[in-house]
Amino acid sequence: MSNKFVVGVDLGATWVRVALSDENGNILGKLSEKTYRGENGEKISEQILNMIFKLIEKTGVTSISAVGIGSIGPLDMRKGVIVKPANLPFENVPLVEPISSKLNVPVYLVNDCTAAVIGEHRFGAGKGVNNLVYVTLSTGIGGGAYVDGHLLLGKDGNAVEIGHIVIDFEGRLKCGCGKRGHWEAYCSGANIPNFAKLMLNEMDKRKIEESLLFKLIRGDLSGLTTEVIFRAANEGDEISLRIVREIGKLNAIGFANIVNVYDPSLITVGGSIALNNPKLVLEPIRKHLGNYTVNKVPKIVLTPLGSDIVLYGAVALALNPSQIQLK
Ligand SMILES: [Zn+2]
Repeated sequence: MSNKFVVGVDLGATWVRVALSDENGNILGKLSEKTYRGENGEKISEQILNMIFKLIEKTGVTSISAVGIGSIGPLDMRKGVIVKPANLPFENVPLVEPISSKLNVPVYLVNDCTAAVIGEHRFGAGKGVNNLVYVTLSTGIGGGAYVDGHLLLGKDGNAVEIGHIVIDFEGRLKCGCGKRGHWEAYCSGANIPNFAKLMLNEMDKRKIEESLLFKLIRGDLSGLTTEVIFRAANEGDEISLRIVREIGKLNAIGFANIVNVYDPSLITVGGSIALNNPKLVLEPIRKHLGNYTVNKVPKIVLTPLGSDIVLYGAVALALNPSQIQLK
């Protein structure tokens, strides 16, 4: 029986999840709660602390040695704080200091996609892979990367903000960050409906009206969601398949930029869009990638860690924090 225990935290805009693990990544217990969204950002650290105390009680573990947090950003890693998160109603969310002072153990904070690639590298498909990129295709698009065996961080911890790679120089769509033409503005769960509307404007009206997609949204384009587009595509609806294939081409451009810049030997993919529609998402990327790459095309696989990848990454970070020293 191992005797070192750590806590991993996955802090998202909707859910906060906490796991207690032994030093081999065996999770002894985990909890999820809706993320606190009241009037005071400091209460988020209280919520996490309460969840940790509950888990300690539930598992009977008497002491923990560290806490790792994979969080939505943007982060000020040096201060251990989330700064003006786009999807939470707070100016500042202090995490490291309040949690470490209460538990009297070190607390390590990285953004969620950095945590995810740490998890993939230690526990997932990326074990022993020195040139590894993780991509999440979810509400947003993000990534984490190891190059030459080193975790990429950047000056503030934002070295791999791949969702904001420019894929459309005409900038037809505006990203949640406020800038135009970013990958995430076309292919993330939050923005696929905007891109679909752009495409539908140029398609034959009669064909649209005869489509399953049109039926599913009862003819009301304001009801267009990412789920409904993929649902109709999965059932063979031609209009939805055209949209999904076009998204696939844009994803291939995003992936090609990653390949050309980081030269990975493996890219793993997660996030709800990819996890729920692996074939529709991965096949067009594999098909078109080579049209845009100069470097050798890497293997692309779905992450085996599924929707727990950030949680595993936070655990792996707590077990091996030396790799997140900012320089
Ligand atoms: Zn952006």
